[in-house]
Amino acid sequence: MNPLLPTFEASRAAALQALARVSPQAYAVSRNHLLGAATALSPYFTHGLLTQREVFDFLHQRSPLHPQHKLVYEFGWRAYFRHVWAQLGDGILESLHPGPLPDAAYHPELPEDVRQARSGVPAIDQAVRCLYASGHLHNHARMWLASYLVHVRKVAWRVGADWLYGHLLDGDLASNHLSWQWVAGTGSHKPYLFNAENVARFAPPEWHSPGSVIDTSYEALDALAHTPEAIAPSPKGRPGGGLAEPPLRSTPPDVVPWPDTDLTGRPVWLQHPWALGPRPAEVPQDAVVLGLVLRDCHQRHPWSGRRWQFVLDGWRTQGTPCWCVDAAGLGRALAGAASVWLQDEPHLRPWRAALPPHTHWLPEVPLFAEVPGHQASFSRWWQRTRLL
Ligand SMILES: Cc1cc2nc3c(=O)[nH]c(=O)nc-3n(C[C@H](O)[C@H](O)[C@H](O)COP(=O)(O)OP(=O)(O)OC[C@H]3O[C@@H](n4cnc5c(N)ncnc54)[C@H](O)[C@@H]3O)c2cc1C
Repeated sequence: MNPLLPTFEASRAAALQALARVSPQAYAVSRNHLLGAATALSPYFTHGLLTQREVFDFLHQRSPLHPQHKLVYEFGWRAYFRHVWAQLGDGILESLHPGPLPDAAYHPELPEDVRQARSGVPAIDQAVRCLYASGHLHNHARMWLASYLVHVRKVAWRVGADWLYGHLLDGDLASNHLSWQWVAGTGSHKPYLFNAENVARFAPPEWHSPGSVIDTSYEALDALAHTPEAIAPSPKGRPGGGLAEPPLRSTPPDVVPWPDTDLTGRPVWLQHPWALGPRPAEVPQDAVVLGLVLRDCHQRHPWSGRRWQFVLDGWRTQGTPCWCVDAAGLGRALAGAASVWLQDEPHLRPWRAALPPHTHWLPEVPLFAEVPGHQASFSRWWQRTRLL
């Protein structure tokens, strides 16, 4: 598989195959390289086809993993971002503290040349191409893209975060929006900066960007990050004819809708898009299974056709019908159900009150111990948590 253009299949079998390919030893050595041994497990985590707990247990059983192993540490980042989300809720969608410039200094729109992969900076244009072609990006490429947009082009981090979230198969509001804040310097103590030398070290030749705006020193980049003026796209990048951006949609395409049958007196398992995995043992065997698309959620955070297809495929292989409904309709249709079961999922929490009181929110089995109170930095959280 080309690590720059990985493919993902929305099934438990595909997730387990991907897990079997993971090599923690190779990961520790080469994870920062775009062609290195990153796991590409993230879409499976995001959509509930794998949990961190079972992945750790599987790898640890195969060959003992130290709690400080690089892979465990990276799992920690995901868990930490979820910790911050649990503490701050929608507060993660606003700057956590001031960055190098006031929020008002950044533009509210994403430049067309970046959207169309024609900024003229090869590292950025390659990243956008890979993103649209696969719905995935290596962590380093995400950091470069975010840093270029925020610190060079002066795009508001939230604008970039919403755009990237929509195109990623693993799009997760906590990992994505808080990573953008970490890069922007509104969620970390300094902006994340990178230059052409860094790209040359970690990316294949077609990404190298000599002679571009990023081919400069870290001192110059730091000064740029603290200057309100945006740098224009490279002259090489300006002409039209770039890539067409795949549209983001708030509802799935070509869906065969659930034929609203009466749920009165029946147990219901809501298999939402973040819970495509096996049905938990607690859910009654005779439960009606429905693939829930909560319209209100996706109107706020739309997805690419590729991501919708991933979710629809996940349901199709399990024979789960898709139920597109808004929060009010959801509450009405479930009011008479005998019981309602769903995996607890922070993406759905703003609409929790729409579900009837007899709803069972099943918690994810955690890998790390909960740390009480908001921990403002990853290192503080990491010192206080432990593997369970
Ligand atoms: C700007 C930006 C946006 C991001 N958006 C998302 C997102 O929407 N969803 C998402 O899951 N991750 C996001 N990340 C984190 C990270 O880039 C991806 O988790 C990782 O690239 C996924 O590929 P992988 O599974 O091969 O990761 P690996 O490097 O193999 O890591 C294994 C797992 O550890 C976790 N992980 C690793 N690094 C991070 C990290 N820095 N932050 C959080 N979790 C991490 C992921 O669950 C990942 O699957 C973002 C990072 C940045 C810089």
